[in-house]
Amino acid sequence: MSIGVWILGDQLWEQQAALQTCSATQKIPVIFIESLNHIQDRAYHKQKLVLVWSAMRHFAEQLQQKGYLVTYQIADDFTTSLQAWVRDHHITELRVMTPNNHPFMQIIENLQLPCQINLIPNNQFLWSREDFHGWAKNRKRLLMEDFYRQGRRKFQILMDKNQPVGGKWNLDQENRQPPKGKLNTPPAKWFQPDEITLDVIAKVKSLPFATYGEVEPFLWGVTRQQALEILNWFIQYRLPDFGPYQDAMVTGEETMWHALLSPYLNLGLLQPLEVITAAEQAYQQYQLPLNSVEGFIRQVLGWREYMHGIYHFVDTEYTEKNWFNHTRSLPEFFWTGKTQMNCLHQILTQVQRTGYAHHIQRLMVLSNFALIAGLSPQEVENWFHAAFIDAYDWVMQTNVIGMGLFADGGILASKPYAASANYINKMSDYCKTCVYNHKERIGKNACPFNLFYWNFLDQNRSKLQTQGRMSFILKNLDKMSSNELQSIRQQAEDWHINQE
Ligand code: FAD
Ligand code: SF4
Repeated sequence: MSIGVWILGDQLWEQQAALQTCSATQKIPVIFIESLNHIQDRAYHKQKLVLVWSAMRHFAEQLQQKGYLVTYQIADDFTTSLQAWVRDHHITELRVMTPNNHPFMQIIENLQLPCQINLIPNNQFLWSREDFHGWAKNRKRLLMEDFYRQGRRKFQILMDKNQPVGGKWNLDQENRQPPKGKLNTPPAKWFQPDEITLDVIAKVKSLPFATYGEVEPFLWGVTRQQALEILNWFIQYRLPDFGPYQDAMVTGEETMWHALLSPYLNLGLLQPLEVITAAEQAYQQYQLPLNSVEGFIRQVLGWREYMHGIYHFVDTEYTEKNWFNHTRSLPEFFWTGKTQMNCLHQILTQVQRTGYAHHIQRLMVLSNFALIAGLSPQEVENWFHAAFIDAYDWVMQTNVIGMGLFADGGILASKPYAASANYINKMSDYCKTCVYNHKERIGKNACPFNLFYWNFLDQNRSKLQTQGRMSFILKNLDKMSSNELQSIRQQAEDWHINQE
């Protein structure tokens, strides 16, 4: 029996489950495949392609140095490359760590190979799919907060015996501050591309099909070593003040105090437990503020694990969900950034330049707009998947379809994240230089977020009434005169007609 291992592009970790079943000293054949067909389903961000391919090439080199028999294929499709490699190396059993994403699982299921395929359970998350299932199966509500507390207990993170350190599970009350005055944001840790990355940049520049965004400057890390440096940088310079301005948005401040770790966690270059432990140790060693440390740990131990768990818990039709029956097409400006709405313009052009926006930019501006303007969830999901450096199916379905657009009808979020310009004005400086007036909801200068927000509440009143947390907001809708409501409906409709 001869074993070979296929390493997927988001499984770049020496202790990943399939490699762990083998020993490097046995000269195990290992294959990586850069497939061109695979990336033509949608227009990926150029920097995402560079990141994934460069990280794969670096990791392949690393394994070669460790004694694995590495094949690195640049090919059109997976099947032809695998068939030839299996034959050449007389492989009888192909081991693959179970992919995180359903579409890739389908690719593996459809492979026609002259050998047995053995899927090894994925070990890149703290909660296995079975453990999450065990937690979720008999619950009425799959509340993230309950899951997070269970995770704190299960992995003994920020715990004092059975109680949370500091006496509270959640210190968000101390966070969520609006940006005020001059903020002294720490610089982000970036890297200059090396030879391997420059080669990949050249390849991406010459691709004969549509891609999205700008390829240079490319400043992301591409190795585990660099990812660890970014983690250390974050812990040292950003974590102490991560909490207070976590939700704030400031023109020209693209990353604020955020960690910039999702690209590396999602590729396997970093593991969730080491990230969480590094934050907890820094808290103990340097007495960092608990609101910042707890706030950050909740993102990784709570939200990230929860989103992944839900993705595998719900049925695969989740991707088609559309609770509000929203069918409007995605406006062209999502791709070009050309819009007079300053908040959207700032964030969309930032995403073009970097592939990155922080959580509140994604949730309360981009997906909020898509939700209240009634855009098709599937078109929006496709755009997010194309535009972001850290996008993968498992994280996209839950964050966009579930959290951002409430298209699952509340499996995940307890109410839709819908907001008017009031929120954006409070949490950012975008409105100050916008042609629209954030206070007006009808008329030529009215901010589109306002008219769409009220139109959304009006159009979906009966559905929203069943969401307990919405009743207070719906009362404000009741106070609106029928003339005003009619004008809002008309303006929302006209806005869409003008986009067509
Ligand atoms: P920080 O704010 O510093 O947070 C630390 C870490 O927590 C992140 O690196 C990430 O690993 C984890 N995290 C926090 N929230 C989430 C979450 N909701 N889901 C998963 N992980 C989380 N995250 C992605 O990894 N890929 C995506 O494509 C993606 N798309 C999103 C789309 C929408 C509409 C929304 C609302 C959220 C999305 N997120 C996505 C979640 C989150 O916004 C990003 O993980 C985060 O902004 C990444 O930047 P950071 O590393 O600087 O994060
Ligand atoms: Fe965005 Fe409206 Fe503010 Fe302009 S006024 S920046 S469109 S929220």
